[in-house]
Amino acid sequence: MQTVKVKEAIKMKSEIIAVGTELLLGQVVNTNATFLSEQLADLGIDVYYQTVVGDNPTRLEELIQLAETRSELIILCGGLGPTEDDLTKEVTAKHLGRELIQNTEGYKKLLTFFETTKRKMTENNLQQSQIIEGGIPLPNRTGLALGTFFQTEDHVYILLPGPPSELKPMFIEQARPLLEEKFPSEEKLISKVLRFYGIGESRLVTELKDLIETQINPTIAPYAKPNEVTLRLTVKTKDAHAGNQALLALEERIQERVGEYFYGYGDDNSLPKVVVDLLKERNQTITAAESLTAGAFQAALGDIPGVSAVFPGGFTTYSLETKANFLTIDRHFLEKYGTVSQECAEQMALQARKLAGTDYGISFTGVAGPDELEGQPVGTVWIALAYGDEAVISQKYRFTRDRAAIRHSAVMQGFDLLRRQVLRKK
Ligand code: ATP
Repeated sequence: MQTVKVKEAIKMKSEIIAVGTELLLGQVVNTNATFLSEQLADLGIDVYYQTVVGDNPTRLEELIQLAETRSELIILCGGLGPTEDDLTKEVTAKHLGRELIQNTEGYKKLLTFFETTKRKMTENNLQQSQIIEGGIPLPNRTGLALGTFFQTEDHVYILLPGPPSELKPMFIEQARPLLEEKFPSEEKLISKVLRFYGIGESRLVTELKDLIETQINPTIAPYAKPNEVTLRLTVKTKDAHAGNQALLALEERIQERVGEYFYGYGDDNSLPKVVVDLLKERNQTITAAESLTAGAFQAALGDIPGVSAVFPGGFTTYSLETKANFLTIDRHFLEKYGTVSQECAEQMALQARKLAGTDYGISFTGVAGPDELEGQPVGTVWIALAYGDEAVISQKYRFTRDRAAIRHSAVMQGFDLLRRQVLRKK
């Protein structure tokens, strides 16, 4: 069979094999492949194939054979555990004509684990501290099963555990440094992620059509998520300074056209995080009074570490009674204007701000569906923002799709409204 040789490869090609019947049954999403692909791209290693195979030794063996005909680096994930169906190590070892051997460090860790947790170790647990003979053990900081880095003249095989909480640190802390050391690449990929809110993917792509069509290096990759779009700009370069300059020049051209919708940088960023950071910088605080979102805006705030500096608490006021009682709004006023109204939204925001003593008070009231309310169609939402000395702005929206999407859209719109107001009032 034709094989490619690792040493002859001008540029290493790789593929990822995820092992597990649960992946084929659709019970688990193959997030390990996504993570590994990103990591490999970052290392400048091309990924040509991602495959999934069930816990079946014959099919796994066939897949390894196929992978060897087209890739130098083969990463296998999953199936390193102690149970019958965990066969990745065994099949790969057999394929390579090697034994599985106990790793002393891994074995000690296993013993300590069972001693300290007062659990009984079974025979098959021993498999977890085995590695392929001649391979480099990859310690598992967050679990028990060891990984293996195994190199032949033709190929590199990396075996990683299935649980993402184990695979990620093992790849970043153990496997990645080994790849960098053994296969140094002169060319690096440098990426920058730009995040946009309030513009759909199709419109964003239309605005940037000529830039996207002529892209070579740097490249522009759009990615749409509910209520936001990101653009990943990537440059392949030997010179980091020149690469960063090229990214900056491209970003400037993009910002000229769609900068109005740009809210922040980075993979791990989010609109709520950007808003919390802005409030922190300015030493300002926010509260909320939520009707149709029932606390979802405040829950999104709560997801951000350190939010207590800007968010003392708030109100969930679903019914007319709680709007009247918790926010001390006159019942007759609510009955007169209705709860899905500009007047109600503004009173909610003003009262919430006053009662919580914050710089900003935001409110949400509307119709999440499936039925209309007070004669207002599904998707109607009023958002109001109180600030300064009794000032309030409010806006009516018509969100579409189902109940969950309407509530999520309202929350995100609230964050954008707040972000724009905070920036205005520097
Ligand atoms: P363990 O020691 O826990 O048995 P393992 O290396 O044998 O680990 P698997 O048994 O294949 O791994 O998978 C364990 C769990 O890890 C799965 O139930 C699933 O939740 C998660 N997992 C496995 N493969 C993937 C994947 N490709 N992407 C995301 N999650 C995965």
